[in-house]
Amino acid sequence: MNVLVINCGSSSLKYQLINSESEAVLAKGLCERIGMDGARLNHTPAGGEKVVIEHPMPDHTVAVQLVINALTDANYGVVKSLDEIDAVGHRIVHGGEKFASSVVINEEVIKAIEECNDLAPLHNPANLIGIRACQKIMENVPMVAVFDTAFHQTMPEKAYMYGLPYEYYEKYKIRRYGFHGTSHDFVSARAAEILGKKREDLKIIVCHLGNGASISAVKNGKCVDTSMGLTPLEGLIMGTRCGDIDPAIVEFIANKENLSVSEVNTIMNKKSGVEGMSKVSSDFRDLSKAMDEGNALAKMALEAYTYRVAKYIGSYVAAMNGVDVIAFTAGIGENDGRVRAMTGEYLDYLGCGIDPEKNAVRGEEIIISRPGDKVTVMVVPTNEELAIARQTVALI
Ligand code: ADP
Repeated sequence: MNVLVINCGSSSLKYQLINSESEAVLAKGLCERIGMDGARLNHTPAGGEKVVIEHPMPDHTVAVQLVINALTDANYGVVKSLDEIDAVGHRIVHGGEKFASSVVINEEVIKAIEECNDLAPLHNPANLIGIRACQKIMENVPMVAVFDTAFHQTMPEKAYMYGLPYEYYEKYKIRRYGFHGTSHDFVSARAAEILGKKREDLKIIVCHLGNGASISAVKNGKCVDTSMGLTPLEGLIMGTRCGDIDPAIVEFIANKENLSVSEVNTIMNKKSGVEGMSKVSSDFRDLSKAMDEGNALAKMALEAYTYRVAKYIGSYVAAMNGVDVIAFTAGIGENDGRVRAMTGEYLDYLGCGIDPEKNAVRGEEIIISRPGDKVTVMVVPTNEELAIARQTVALI
């Protein structure tokens, strides 16, 4: 079965066509600048060269049609016709409290996703536009919604409630939801599989460190806590997001800089994190290079970043009354040995540490703790698209 996995943003659309039997990616690509001048599609067939198709994309429906044209093209396509696309899996950012697992999309589901728009005003409407566009072009193809929040729905009340008046939860469903759930689920399951154990028997901490970053505590196969909250702004220091701060800072900056709350919100999301702290970059390759060249702010940002990761690990050890496995994943977690090593310096009390030789690898499944350590530290590359394809197949 061939599954088209779609991740639709307000002006972009990422896709992968995955064969569910071999789990091979047949082709992948990205539509950029949808609804703007200079729209283009980057399409890469497996084993082939990237093709750049410049074509106006007034809306997402045109973008989806161009993706289908590319996938079925005589030269760089990978299937003969639309008939060879058996299902579509959509990544949906926010399922609120309505979705604790993936679902087959129908009108009722679309309405329920719409009802979560308030909780993710930048993402959910764009995800819905992607669903509608695919429905127009692929009328009879079954579609599944896979939610970033679903895996975290098992969190207990004590982990997801904020210390705010209860009425805000009652009126607006303000609580912690968490994100990257597909990745936390995939990585914790894979970590157990690599160790030849059942996830149900383990306490696992997953550190998903990418542009956005979050940590989760997975106890006996269920998420019991995670670092992102109502929105992805909470928790770790990220590439450009500030993570946890004193909430009173918002009013303070707004007054001092004569900004609106919404402008301060943008600063906290787009101009903060290691980029804002270091004045260098949000990319950890640039940060590490700057630190090596003696840049004090880059060093400070990396130290603050890894200190925060270590503190979250500690709090989840407390939440689960122990830990068996700590798994690093996503762009930074998979590739940045320095971040893993700096975090590892805080793990002595757990009776584990990081083997420098094993830690030198990039982007591979590997155990990086030392033989005999009480806790296994490992790198487990994530694959959210494959997870979405698997869940799509399972449901149809
Ligand atoms: P997202 O999916 O959230 O956009 P990724 O998981 O792809 O993010 O992570 C992207 C980040 O990973 C980059 O911004 C960069 O900081 C980091 N990264 C990628 N490759 C490397 C590398 N070789 N060394 C260090 N950091 C890297």
